[in-house]
Order: sequence, then structure tokens, then C-alpha cells
Amino acid sequence: MNFYTDYFPLIMNAVGLYGTELAGAFLMASLINLIHVKGTQKESFNYLSTGFYTLILRDILLVCCMFLPTLQPTLVLPDQLPLWIGIGCCSLAAALFVVGALKNLQLYFSALSLTVLMTLIIGGIGAASILWQPVTALAPYLQNIALTASFFTVGLSFYFRRNNGQTTNTESMGTGFIVLGFCYLYLAADLLASPDITILLCYTIALMLSLTAQIQFLNHYVLKLETNLAQEKINREKIWDISPFPILISRLRDDAILYMNPAARQTLFVKKGEVFAYPFAAYFAEPKKRTELSALIKQEKVVHSFETEVHHPNLDNYLWVDLSTRAIDLDEEVALYTTFKDITERKKMTQILQEQASTDPLTGLYNRRQFEILVHQALHTAERYGTPYSMAMIDIDFFKKINDTYGHDAGDAVLKKLADTLKATLRKSDIIARFGGEEFVLFFSQTPPSNARTAAEHVRHAVENMNVVVDEQSIPVTVSLGISSGRTADLSALIKQADEALYHSKQNGRNQVTLYDDLHPETASTPDNIIELNDPIVMEPDTVAQPDNGANV
Ligand code: GH3
Ligand code: MG
Ligand code: MG
Repeated sequence: MNFYTDYFPLIMNAVGLYGTELAGAFLMASLINLIHVKGTQKESFNYLSTGFYTLILRDILLVCCMFLPTLQPTLVLPDQLPLWIGIGCCSLAAALFVVGALKNLQLYFSALSLTVLMTLIIGGIGAASILWQPVTALAPYLQNIALTASFFTVGLSFYFRRNNGQTTNTESMGTGFIVLGFCYLYLAADLLASPDITILLCYTIALMLSLTAQIQFLNHYVLKLETNLAQEKINREKIWDISPFPILISRLRDDAILYMNPAARQTLFVKKGEVFAYPFAAYFAEPKKRTELSALIKQEKVVHSFETEVHHPNLDNYLWVDLSTRAIDLDEEVALYTTFKDITERKKMTQILQEQASTDPLTGLYNRRQFEILVHQALHTAERYGTPYSMAMIDIDFFKKINDTYGHDAGDAVLKKLADTLKATLRKSDIIARFGGEEFVLFFSQTPPSNARTAAEHVRHAVENMNVVVDEQSIPVTVSLGISSGRTADLSALIKQADEALYHSKQNGRNQVTLYDDLHPETASTPDNIIELNDPIVMEPDTVAQPDNGANV
């Protein structure tokens, strides 16, 4: 068998075609780089020039190989020299291309090993086509194998490139397969043009083999990436697991909990098996707080110091938390990374301090300061809705005498008992406070003077019948009351008028109720203002309500 007549043209043809296809692949690479990947022009030129250099190199080598024996008829070239030149040249170009297409150093080695592998496959087929007779028949199809391999290189390189960026594995895989699709179209067209059934069969087998190999390759890389991703996930969770701060990850799309670290589970009393059982929203004591948090995240992306009450969805373990949330990309999903701290103790302390600042320690009633705050709000509401209101000042009669006769502790007991009597006698919406010493003050919302008088008479009567027993001695207690009512929304004026009415009660013999309006009929409220108690008045929610289960209990 003569190398020059039998193999040389064949190999020249194969090498030539492979070179052309490879150059075509570079061209495609530069186009995809510009259009699809939106890479830089410089990168595209790099690909292009690499492709052209390959073609030039290939041509020079092939021409040299052809001319060598012509110039020197005595020169006998080794049988496989042109083949190896062709293979070496194309492999080098492929290596340059693959490595050049990858910017990431981390992937440099895998790209290089891929190129080596490709070289071995192509080289192996080439060598086999010369050394082993049955494979020699495949030599004409070397171009297709080479073509597939070159396109495959492009696809895989882009797979790597894109995987380094923001796009997902699936998209990169798709890019690879689109490129391969062109290759198969080309081959199919070639197949249809061929009348030989054996050639058709060989084409099909070669195609199937190359496709299987490509899928294997891609699978291998996807698997590798997936393994890396899984490992990363495990590592990430290991780090979160040891955090002393509660961490909770929820999926933004459907609010499902994806992860809860042990600190979070411990804080919320969630068992390991329950982590995925409830959505994030189920942990909020008030659903509107969850909605509020969502709105904030939409606006800000990061939310800090969001205070809310949370609990286990099936338990009453309510606790206050201060949470921070950030939207993160997690395993191709948008998730909320939430960390929080339990601030229940701090909240309780604040509440206690607030209570202490607003109540009188002896009677538990509001103090004067809190009374003024609440009455200001109530006056504002009354003015807005034009509803009547009244105020009563209460002073214990001869309290000094009670102290002197029964002792200071007995006096205190009387003050406490009086506070209880006031709470028991009056409505929940009335504001009751200890104004100082043995003086008490009441504010009646939606109450005209006539009804305030009735309420005051109830109080006076209840105090009169109050049974205060200290050291087996019953202490008689009476109170005098003065009432002022809604003509002015000025609190100090109201107090002054109530005081004047009270003074009148004292002067008039004590244990009685006086209305400021009775003392000054010329300025008294008009009958329009008078609304009977049994006429219900519909008020809006900002009406001041007596917090009976708060300070006054
Ligand atoms: P009037 O009927 O005119 O109001 O006579 P009164 O004795 O009640 O009035 P006065 O203002 O002369 O005396 C009030 C007394 O209340 C004086 C004060 O020692 C006493 N007092 C004030 N605060 C307390 C307290 O917290 N506990 C006790 N036990 N006594 C108090
Ligand atoms: Mg007094
Ligand atoms: Mg008094």
C-alpha cells in the first residue's frame, strides 16, 4: 500500500476539513461572544484571529508536506508525519481556543484536560484509521467527528463561560446543544446527498457515538457542578448551624421555610421534623406584620430592626423579636435570609417602666401626668366629633382627721379602697386618676353635665357606703365632688372649674356634688350639647378607652 497515493490525499482532506471546521467554530465563537454572551469586541477578535492563525498554520504545514518530496525526490517522509502535523496543529488551536474562551483560572485546568482528552480521541481515531484496516473505512468521516468535536468544544466552552456568570446551567447546556444542532443539520444534509447505504450507516453510528459521548461529557460536568453545589450547600448550612443567632431562610415565592438553624428552632420551640411544616407567615402573631415586612423588603431589599411578636404556629409561646431580613439568591431561587434576637425581656421591662411612669404605686390608678396625656387625646376626639364631656374632681372629706385618728396606714388603706370603689362604680371608658394626695379626678367622655352628675352621685353614694375596716375599726369615709363640663377643650380651665365646684361642695357641708354650670348658669352648656346616656353614640376607634386591665387593675 502506498502512503502517498492511498493515505496522503485522504489525510490531507481530513486535516483540511477539520481545520476548516475548527476555524468555522472560532468564527461562531466570536459571533456568539458578541451577540449571545454580550462579550467584548476584543474577545471576539481574539477568537477570530486564533481561528485565522490556525488556518494559516494548517495551510503552511500542508503545503510544506506536499512540496517536500517534490523538491527532494530522495526524501522519504515517515508514513504518519502529515497526520500528526494536522492533528497536532488542530489540537493546539483547540487548546488555545478553549483556554482563551475561559477567563476563570479555576476552570483553566478542566478546560486544558478537556483539550488533551479531545486530542487523544481525535489522535486515536486518526492513528487507528492508518494502523487498523476496519477503522480506515472511517477516515472519510473523520471530518464529521472532527466537526462535532469542534462544535462540542464551542458549546462546552460557553457552558463554562456562562456558568461563571449569572446564567444558569440549563441555559449554558442549551447553548451547547444549539451549537451542536447546527452540526447535525449539516451532517443530515450530507447524509441525504449520499446514496451509499454503508456510508449512511457509518455516519449514523458515528453520530450516535459522538452524541452519546457529548451527553456523557455534559452529564459529567453537570454532575460535577451539582456535587460542588451540594457540597457548598452542606458547608453553608454547617456554618449557619453553629451560629448562636437564630437564622431562618424562607422562599420568597411561596413563603415556605427552607432552613432553620438550631438557635432559631430553640427560640421558637420548633422540632426538627416541623421545620418545613409551616410557612414563614405562620410564625407572626399578627399577619399584618408579615405583610408590612414584605412591603419593606420590596422597597429596601434589606430590613433592619423590625420588631414583631412571633410564636410557634401551634403554641402560645409568644415572644417579641427584633429581626433583620435580606433578600438573597439561593440555589436559583430568591429567598429571605432572616436573623433575629429575642427581645421579650426588654419589651417587658419597657412596659413595666412605662406603667411605673404612668401609674400611682399606692392605688394603681393613673397618675396626674398620664391623666393629662389621656384627657388631651379624649378632648381632641370630643372636639372632632362635637360630643359632650365632663370632668369631676374628688376630694376626701376630713382626710387629715382620718390619718390623725387611725394612723397613716389606715389613711393609705382608705385611698386604696376608694380607688377600688371608683373602678367598680364607673364605666370602662371613664378615665380615673389620682391627682395627688387625697384628690382624685375623673374624665367622662360622651357625657353631658347632667349624666356626669348622676355618675358623681353614684360615686359619692358608693364611697359613703364603703366599708373600710382597719384594726377591727370601721372608718367612715365621705367625698366631695366638683363637676365641670364641655364648653372649653382647655384642660387647665376644666380643672380650674371643677376645682371651683369642689370648693363649693366643701363650703356647702361636704359629702355632695356641685356642678360648675349650676354656679355659673350664664355660661352653661346649651341644651343641644346635652346627649342622654341611653342615646348610644357611634365613635371611631381612636376614642379613648379606659385601660381597665392595664394600670387601673
Ligand atoms: P377637706 O375635707 O377640707 O378636704 O379636709 P382634709 O383634711 O381632707 O384636707 P387637707 O388638705 O387638710 O388634708 C389632706 C391630707 O391628706 C393631708 C395629708 O397628710 C394627707 N395625705 C396626702 N397624701 C396622703 C397619702 O398618700 N397617704 C395618707 N395616708 N395621707 C395622705
Ligand atoms: Mg385636699
Ligand atoms: Mg380632703
